Amino acid sequence: MAKLVFLGTASAVAFEGHDNTYMVVQGQNSSVLIDCATKPLLRLKKAGIQFADLSDLVITHFHADHVSGLSNLLMDMWILGRQAEFSIHGSQHSISRVEKMMALFDWDTWKNMYPVSFHTIPLEESSLVLDNSDFTIHSSPVDHLIPTLGLRIENLESGFVAAYSCDTNPVDRMVTLAAGADVLIHEAAGPFQGHSTSAQAGEIASQAQVAKLYLIHYIAALKSFELN
Ligand SMILES: [Zn+2]
Repeated sequence: MAKLVFLGTASAVAFEGHDNTYMVVQGQNSSVLIDCATKPLLRLKKAGIQFADLSDLVITHFHADHVSGLSNLLMDMWILGRQAEFSIHGSQHSISRVEKMMALFDWDTWKNMYPVSFHTIPLEESSLVLDNSDFTIHSSPVDHLIPTLGLRIENLESGFVAAYSCDTNPVDRMVTLAAGADVLIHEAAGPFQGHSTSAQAGEIASQAQVAKLYLIHYIAALKSFELN
């Protein structure tokens, strides 16, 4: 039975016990990471998912709170002896930045590094991101501060569909992408440029006629970091 596991749900400022937003979908033959914040190996272990089972990463956009754990994940899997190919999917904007970031870490000098393949997703409605024996994933560009992808993830075994807004203003494209889904995971960071309120997320869920709405990327404890 496939699983959708939330590894973090916080908005840009994480705090203890509440990591930045990222998740994983686990099927029979593949586990696909959606974004890569903070401490992916520890979070995956807690969720009972072996790093060796990770097949793919889909990057929704290149903001630090969504990719801060990526260089560490790639290095840790190398140190731990991964041999299998790892595939990274994202827009040209994201992929070019990942390549620059990893070049700064001189990853071309890592001996016996496992193969990493990059797959560029066009910023067009309903682009195919990934199609394997477990999942079909499509993306559409949403309306954030930089090029950002919303996702529609279908599990082929059960037919379960999850849609994920990522970071965005409320947009009609998300209604289309989430149409009839079993669950819509929509951000609710608040009334800020490039983000949505929980009420706006509810409106999108209602228009898309989804069965359930999960709010994510919400601000929960900024006060603990306030300066005196
Ligand atoms: Zn963002």
